[in-house]
Amino acid sequence: MNSTKFEKIALIGLGLIGSSLCHAIKRAGLAGQITGSARSEATRQASLQLGLVDAVFADPAEAVADADLVILCVPVGANEQIMKVISPALKAGAILTDTGSVKSEVVRHVEPYVPDGVHFIPGHPIAGTEESGPKAGFAELFDGRWSILTPLYGTDEAALEKLKRFWQACGSDVEIMSPEHHDLVLAITSHVPHLIAYNIVGTAADIEQVTRSEVIKFSAAGFRDFTRIAASNPVMWRDIFLNNKEAVLEMLGRFSEDLATLQRAIRWDDGDTLLELFTRTRDIRRGIIEAGQETPEPDFGRSHGTLTAADPAKPREKS
Ligand code: NAP
Repeated sequence: MNSTKFEKIALIGLGLIGSSLCHAIKRAGLAGQITGSARSEATRQASLQLGLVDAVFADPAEAVADADLVILCVPVGANEQIMKVISPALKAGAILTDTGSVKSEVVRHVEPYVPDGVHFIPGHPIAGTEESGPKAGFAELFDGRWSILTPLYGTDEAALEKLKRFWQACGSDVEIMSPEHHDLVLAITSHVPHLIAYNIVGTAADIEQVTRSEVIKFSAAGFRDFTRIAASNPVMWRDIFLNNKEAVLEMLGRFSEDLATLQRAIRWDDGDTLLELFTRTRDIRRGIIEAGQETPEPDFGRSHGTLTAADPAKPREKS
């Protein structure tokens, strides 16, 4: 038998991440059976129609019964409530993991409800899009992306190895780190950039009322890229900021200091400071492309065929 295979995998939450996992699990033949649970009837129906799961339940405790791998794929603020419900139904020997974008708070919310004999190994796939819901998922989402596992003290080595192989079979490379380190790294690489995007698009929306839609009409590449990020799932991102407060505030402090340095450089015509930074940041982007985490194509490979200079407001295909 394929040692990566689980008899029954249960996914709690069937949105972008849950549905992508269903596709990836099926592609690699990793489960004898997939069960799922989602809050709304609409999502449950869609997951059956799309063939994501073999059975779907309103009650997450029914979905996890007899599962040997349980994956929480809900916004991080929903984990504790779900754990209260599923805890008595978890099978001894099962692996319990999650996909939440913050880790320390998830551990604080989930660990107290993990029964003896269940292996809780927190996780986070660094893969996503600005879409959400069961129809947004696709099998390739995790291909070539990192998945981070943050095992706790005393984690069973065999369970960790099995979960690692699971993510690898879903297409990911796997990295192990502590929950605290994860939260610091993600604060600067993901959470603060999202906050900046939400903020800049919010400011532009306010200005738009003054400039009468010119912000949208003449939206330049830089701003458009921020709007894509700022279109991300509002509930998910609210929960991320409320649950990674310390690391986000720490990184925002650093960010504000560095922004003040740039303000001063502009005010005092200090071109050397600007040039030095812009050269360094260009190298960082080259490094990300060389690491295979971004496309080298100009303008993120967008097709320019549909846009003409005379019609700058015409919408483009979403990349
Ligand atoms: P999503 O598309 O919005 O799906 C969330 C799922 O959770 C839906 O099935 C939803 O049910 C269910 N749900 C929401 N609130 C719930 C509640 N209070 N109780 C029970 N179920 C609830 O979100 P997602 O993008 O898949 O994100 C899931 C997790 O993955 C989050 O923790 C997020 O931090 C993490 N993550 C996301 C990304 C990304 O880019 N999106 C990347 C990596 C990790 P209904 O559909 O019935 O409302």
